[in-house]
Amino acid sequence: MEAATTPRPVVLVVEDEQNIRELVCLHLGLESYECVPSGDGEDALKLARARRFDLVILDLMLPGLDGVTVCRALRRESQNTDVPVLMLTARREESDKVVGLESGADDYLTKPFSVRELIARVRALLRRGPRPIVSSSREPGRPITYKHIDMDPARRRARVGNKDVELTSNEFQLLYVLLASPGIVFSREALLSRVWKDQTFVTVRSVDTLIKRLRKKIESNPADPAVILTVWGAGYKAADV
Ligand code: CA
Repeated sequence: MEAATTPRPVVLVVEDEQNIRELVCLHLGLESYECVPSGDGEDALKLARARRFDLVILDLMLPGLDGVTVCRALRRESQNTDVPVLMLTARREESDKVVGLESGADDYLTKPFSVRELIARVRALLRRGPRPIVSSSREPGRPITYKHIDMDPARRRARVGNKDVELTSNEFQLLYVLLASPGIVFSREALLSRVWKDQTFVTVRSVDTLIKRLRKKIESNPADPAVILTVWGAGYKAADV
């Protein structure tokens, strides 16, 4: 076997159910990811303090520390404050809570899940890389193409079809965050922190207002959006491509 030229992404898998943990690790291994398994939250935090991971797959229901607590601790005090987190939840209602409460998770998967779905989410999160917590003024970000929409942050230019669309700075940033990660659900709080950053006097309602304005500019039917979708109880996402 030839030595790999690029390091394999390392994924921390925190799941107390042994069969699920092993299944996840098996399939991550088949995708050539390195898997570090952990059976509980305390152990996971210990591991996360010792090294950086490229992704954390975190079960919500764990003995001792639950997934949300572990996720918040990760964000606060480990070497992995910006690591993408995929939360596993048992039920649809839990999923809504996970994102709605701003647990710090980037995406979630409801059990039982298919391996294909898991791997698709893992790939998407790894592609996206660490959470963009640095100010966008330093790094304008790469141009992206999403279906019929092109965005070039360096030129602050957005084209829908072949037409330039005038967007305010916040509208541009909001659309960019969503379209850069199709299918990933962003809570209103997550969007607030990414789009408005340190601006004060904004509330989660500001997100809804801005989404409404944005839809009028980019959707062919703003009342039945095809690009920016509302995820009930959770937030917003760009439709899967
Ligand atoms: Ca569990």
